[in-house]
Amino acid sequence: MTEVISPGASRTDAPGVERRTDRAAALRARFRQTRQYQVAAAVPAAGGLYLLAHARRLSVDIGLAPIVLGALSLLAVAVLFSWINWRCPACRRRLPLRWNPDPCAGCGFVLLRRH
Ligand SMILES: [Zn+2]
Repeated sequence: MTEVISPGASRTDAPGVERRTDRAAALRARFRQTRQYQVAAAVPAAGGLYLLAHARRLSVDIGLAPIVLGALSLLAVAVLFSWINWRCPACRRRLPLRWNPDPCAGCGFVLLRRH
């Protein structure tokens, strides 16, 4: 399920702690999904690294060029996807490449706090 949360969505609602808590909880839920996507991005990355590691053996029949091109394509997909995906759900700033980048260096949003 994809949930779109605009930064100003709560502005017209009655202000209150509970409303802000709801939004924070929704953003944290989105970050958990972001981490799951990041795990999925490891699949093409692993495939690309496997191809590079075994390029010589795999290239016996079809030559080295398609193996290397395929490997670089897989790695490019993983890097591009990660570049798009690995961002703070609150301010969309890129996060450092750590499994637990808490809190966001851009806006200070706590990404993983249990509530
Ligand atoms: Zn942020």
